Amino acid sequence: MTDCIFCQIVEGKIPSTKVYQDDVCIAFMDIQPLTRGHVLVIPRSHAGGLADLPPQTGGHLFQVGQKIAKAMRKSSLKAEGINFFLADGKVAFQTVFHVHLHVIPRTEGDGFGLKFGAEYGKPPERSELERTAGQIQEALGK
Ligand code: 5GP
Ligand code: ZN
Repeated sequence: MTDCIFCQIVEGKIPSTKVYQDDVCIAFMDIQPLTRGHVLVIPRSHAGGLADLPPQTGGHLFQVGQKIAKAMRKSSLKAEGINFFLADGKVAFQTVFHVHLHVIPRTEGDGFGLKFGAEYGKPPERSELERTAGQIQEALGK
């Protein structure tokens, strides 16, 4: 997949600043960090989104994310907390269509934040939660 920027990073065709690599994945610094130390963990094999990612590879990306998170807390970056973020699909803010796990080190007052929808703060009735859960459960059975 030559037009994929992250495949080009895996192949060493464009530069990246790596923090970790193994047979399955590589982890490198985000070129436009959300906070100082922001790392991306990506599979070596191209997968556009979660549906294309073998579950074992997904598990491995998460484990490597945990390892990097631990290092961020121990390091002189002095991360006080970590956010994992994975955007799957354009509406979910995915801009690079090669699966990647964001590992974002957090410190008090770093300015990073999340914006919630208008309905947030008005918890739905239990019946509504059950109806929604039923929709997901039905699809899980398929
Ligand atoms: P997404 O919105 O798809 O979850 O995140 C894509 C991320 O990839 C962004 O945080 C963006 O800064 C990062 N990114 C895009 N192009 C490059 C690149 O060429 N090199 C690196 N290191 N990061 C990139
Ligand atoms: Zn790719």
